[in-house]
Amino acid sequence: MQAFRYSQARSVEGAARLGGTFVAGGTTLIDLMKLNVLEPQQVVDINALPLSQVEDEKDGGLRIGALVRNSDLANHPAVKARYAVLSEALLSGASPQLRNMATTGGNLLQKTRCYYYRDVNYACNKRKPGSGCSAIDGYNRIHAVLGGSEQCVATHPSDMAVAMMALEAVILTSGPKGERRIPLNQFYLEPGTTPDKENVLAPGELITYATLPAASAGTKSHYLKLRDRQQYEFALASAAVLVRTNGGRIEQARIALGGVATKPWRSREAEQVLEGQPATEANFRKAAETAMAGAKALRDNGFKIELAKMAIVRALTVVTGTGAEA
Ligand code: SF4
Repeated sequence: MQAFRYSQARSVEGAARLGGTFVAGGTTLIDLMKLNVLEPQQVVDINALPLSQVEDEKDGGLRIGALVRNSDLANHPAVKARYAVLSEALLSGASPQLRNMATTGGNLLQKTRCYYYRDVNYACNKRKPGSGCSAIDGYNRIHAVLGGSEQCVATHPSDMAVAMMALEAVILTSGPKGERRIPLNQFYLEPGTTPDKENVLAPGELITYATLPAASAGTKSHYLKLRDRQQYEFALASAAVLVRTNGGRIEQARIALGGVATKPWRSREAEQVLEGQPATEANFRKAAETAMAGAKALRDNGFKIELAKMAIVRALTVVTGTGAEA
């Protein structure tokens, strides 16, 4: 690990002034510093900031502090009662020990699990722009089938962010230029020609809160994660779904995918296929086909396309209680 300067922020404004690389739970950053993948010169500890609360908003929504630990958020009564998809997504991630440390803000900024990104002996455009991508012609079983470019095909690893994408979360930030509200669907960037730039945060800009809109009455939600083993494993494909039905017809649908794309992936096209239609297996399959219509397989990851379709169909089946089987 390379030497770095360490400081502690005492206020949100102070953190923005200090700049550098923020550390909270450290469950991603410290790993990557030990591997020399990330070599920040200045690390700013933000654990003393007053951002550890989950609070109801006047409009019925929820405001989640960036330092709320994943385990606390998953088990918060308001989250369990009104945002089940978020609780399920959080509890499907990592291990209890990691969830006790990992924070809401850090989870949103998780780094990819691409093997080549994490090993400095390999070329990686995300780690070292312009050096090449070892995954595109290498072993790419865990890589993305949606949102990739000729420069990078790494998946975003977060489960929580997929649920928040379906919930239409808004991210609040504070930085040298003041405060911003960023809808989560505008927060992440596809790799394009700059895979090292993963989101719209400016240097020194700190995530302070994630807010969720009020849960709509009658909406049910579910997070389904498919992976190589049942615990302590990243998604090969996952689906976060929210559905409101009336008399067997779907009034509103929200679908987001994890494990298959370069960012948490919302499929509005699939939602449109479902809205106004009966909640049937045939329609779930149509939505799944639509969601994956633009998928491009690499040498080793073609199976993810079918897996993601199965995740969507099964999650919709569970949430609507229709009894169809994927
Ligand atoms: Fe790096 Fe992205 Fe290629 Fe992985 S897929 S080696 S993160 S450029």
